Amino acid sequence: MPFKDKETAKAYRESRKEQIALQRKEYRKKNKERLAKENREWRERHKQELAVKRNEYYAIHKEEINARNKEWKKNNLEKVREYTKANSRTKVLRKHGITQEQFASLLAKQNNCCAASGERFTKKLKPFVDHCHQAGHVRGLLCHWCNSAEGLLRTPNRALKLARYMESASLFCVPEKKEVA
Ligand SMILES: [Zn+2]
Repeated sequence: MPFKDKETAKAYRESRKEQIALQRKEYRKKNKERLAKENREWRERHKQELAVKRNEYYAIHKEEINARNKEWKKNNLEKVREYTKANSRTKVLRKHGITQEQFASLLAKQNNCCAASGERFTKKLKPFVDHCHQAGHVRGLLCHWCNSAEGLLRTPNRALKLARYMESASLFCVPEKKEVA
């Protein structure tokens, strides 16, 4: 510290307040990723203490926090809907051991179509994560029809036999489009 006493140092800082704030901002901007990483690591190391503190804080300010949250939710219905949707999607994906990014890249790789039938995914025909129950790995994204059929038939052999039966039997004369819609 280049100053003799605290008062002078304080006065100096006070006089340069804006420049200092600007410098800090620049510094944070330049080192954004490193700081974020350090921050993340610090939070990970202090996870338990932070949880305790958060709980303590919540216990004291419970009513105030709940009221504020309720008010915010009331004013941001659209956002709440979005968050809930995104959250449930993330939860489902996590259950299948796949991240949002992996899901997106899989979807792109499959051209937004079912890996089995080639049916294009739409708002109504959503993609399902098909994974091997034994090994746990993700096989691909399937449409509702293929995912259900696979779950019921279980083995490729049964699927093949059913396909042959459906192809040879004259019972199946319903136009495909009607069936999908
Ligand atoms: Zn399909």
